[in-house]
Amino acid sequence: MPDEKPKPKLGFKLKKTKLVMYSIYCPEKKRWGPVFGAAWNDRRYWASPWSAAVNYARSVIEGVKAFGHEDGQVFIFRPNANAKRLNNSLFGMLMPRFPEEKFIEAVYDVVKENIEFVPKYREGALYIRPVVFGGDGLGIALDPDLSYTTAVWSTPVGEYLQSDISLWVEREITRAMPGGIGALKAAANYPLALITRERAKKQGCHDAVTLDGQYVKYLQELTGANIFIVKNNILFTPIIGDTILPGITRDSLITLARNVLGLKVFEKRLTVEELLNADEAYCCGTAASVTSISRVKDGDKFYTIGNGKQGRITKILHNLLTGIQFGDHEDVFGWLTLADRSRS
Ligand code: PLP
Repeated sequence: MPDEKPKPKLGFKLKKTKLVMYSIYCPEKKRWGPVFGAAWNDRRYWASPWSAAVNYARSVIEGVKAFGHEDGQVFIFRPNANAKRLNNSLFGMLMPRFPEEKFIEAVYDVVKENIEFVPKYREGALYIRPVVFGGDGLGIALDPDLSYTTAVWSTPVGEYLQSDISLWVEREITRAMPGGIGALKAAANYPLALITRERAKKQGCHDAVTLDGQYVKYLQELTGANIFIVKNNILFTPIIGDTILPGITRDSLITLARNVLGLKVFEKRLTVEELLNADEAYCCGTAASVTSISRVKDGDKFYTIGNGKQGRITKILHNLLTGIQFGDHEDVFGWLTLADRSRS
């Protein structure tokens, strides 16, 4: 009799893969060295207890995914957009820019070198994490002798959030302030995100949505995803400014909604009331994909969004985006790039 047990789901946990790609910045030459691979456990290029990354949070990250298609080929989703955003984050953090072509090379290589870890079609994705971090040094000053390392590692992942999540409206802690680094993908943005997520869990919710720190009124984002609402078939999402991460999934969904579905999309300041009165709400990100929000807790009251299930437009957008990523829909915007032809 065949084994009928369903395969365990991958989940979102770190799993060891084979090779990590590195490049080292030479402060004397003011140049990044070649991209090279080292074993997952090779500590030679890791951050030390004296590193500016560990002591002063001089660390910037990215998140990219590679998808296995039905024919076995593997495609990377919009790595050029991540290369640009990484450099925007590095610029904002006064760290040396990492050439886009080196970024693309490292992302390609990490997928090629770990190709056997890419989950099969529709079973998950290879999550690719580029990180740039400061080397050894003391003091909060721009040390011209400080070295930097870029590491690009990868791990297979399944779902980050289940569908139909509940959100806690976080009114006491804000993730980012105007004039701060909230729009950069800096590691320093994540401790507050983690705190708000833990507070949300205590409230019986999956995740938190933070509000602006100035008026404590306008929606910002989730701990690792952007937010959209749908009202009367029109999409709304908070305007980015300098407190919200410009998500690449957010940008992809705006493009799909406008150009494929012919829907109106407005980027504007959105209030909690607008969320509570929405027909549909969802969050989106590389890890989160498109996840519907079915309930919102504000204070001690739960509110149901729409009919409490994944809405029609949310479903269409989810299917469109994942359809492109897994090769079931035509890649009309040229977002996919082939990682390796040799995989059968
Ligand atoms: N906002 C935050 C704070 C994130 O960490 C992420 C995830 O990367 C996003 C939004 C979504 O961005 P992207 O769609 O580029 O993954």
